[in-house]
Amino acid sequence: MEFRTVGSIEEALACLADVGDEAQVVAGGTDVMIQHMRREINPSLFLYIGNLCEMEGLTKNGSHAIGALTTHRHLATDPLVVAAFPALAEAASTVGSWQTQEVGTLGGNLCNASPAADTVAPLLIADAQVELRRASGVRRLPLDEFLLGRRSTARLPDELLTAVTARPPGERCGETYLKLGRRSAMEVAIAGLAVRLTFDAVGNVESAKVAACAVAPRAYRAVEAESVLEGSRLEEGTVAEAGRALVDSATPIDDARASASYRRHVLPGLLVRAVATCRERAVEQR
Ligand SMILES: Cc1cc2nc3c(=O)[nH]c(=O)nc-3n(C[C@H](O)[C@H](O)[C@H](O)COP(=O)(O)OP(=O)(O)OC[C@H]3O[C@@H](n4cnc5c(N)ncnc54)[C@H](O)[C@@H]3O)c2cc1C
Repeated sequence: MEFRTVGSIEEALACLADVGDEAQVVAGGTDVMIQHMRREINPSLFLYIGNLCEMEGLTKNGSHAIGALTTHRHLATDPLVVAAFPALAEAASTVGSWQTQEVGTLGGNLCNASPAADTVAPLLIADAQVELRRASGVRRLPLDEFLLGRRSTARLPDELLTAVTARPPGERCGETYLKLGRRSAMEVAIAGLAVRLTFDAVGNVESAKVAACAVAPRAYRAVEAESVLEGSRLEEGTVAEAGRALVDSATPIDDARASASYRRHVLPGLLVRAVATCRERAVEQR
């Protein structure tokens, strides 16, 4: 087995064009190395891309693009990211411990496609698209289409995920990410919920975006819950109805962290808290 480091995106793409099928891209290595140690993967080449600094950080050039090699620590602490994508920053701050956040990347979190990946739900409520590059060109896909299921994505073997573009919240808008675990660090989500609410001038919900993780094979937008919230003034009964719609949309499993019924049980409460936070944040923004 070979471990190769590349010095540019072009070099990485040329290498993937050559041996993509046999290569495993390594960014922070926090998923890959564990999978290798567990003998779940055994590539003939590890292609280390972690030093490609052109794939790091947030750039505002018409749209907001976040480099795939941006670490969770960067997402959680960079004032530009915190201001543009508060829910994403909150999600990144809950990943593992600070050691994991220091090396683990956004691109790795998305490409690994764990049902509990924390960054996915906040990106789904921001209408995120992924940028996939190969030697012969580039394509963009909605994140929702990129994620196919547990540990499965639409990425081709010769493609590199280079960036994620997303839409920040606008005026009179608040968003948040809430994660439920048994403790507050080193914990993969039992359930996670990202909510973005935009209000009209008189306080009705103009647009609602709700995305859940760890309660289905992949994170998803809960569109039925969104339609219940839209047009409302977030009365108690409406939020409760949206909570029931959210539970109906979930397809959780029993695993070592929690039972499926517990996961269903906690979703409405998470929604109530998330909605209240969004409302507060939208008001603060005025
Ligand atoms: C102790 C511990 C705690 C953790 N806690 C959490 C948690 O709370 N929440 C959470 O969501 N995750 C958690 N994780 C998982 C992991 O840290 C994250 O998924 C992290 O974001 C992975 O990023 P990475 O750069 O380390 O990816 P890597 O391990 O380098 O790669 C992961 C996958 O993505 C592919 N890949 C990486 N970058 C690219 C790219 N640019 N283009 C194409 N393919 C690419 C790799 O080939 C591999 O298949 C934890 C991991 C550990 C070890």
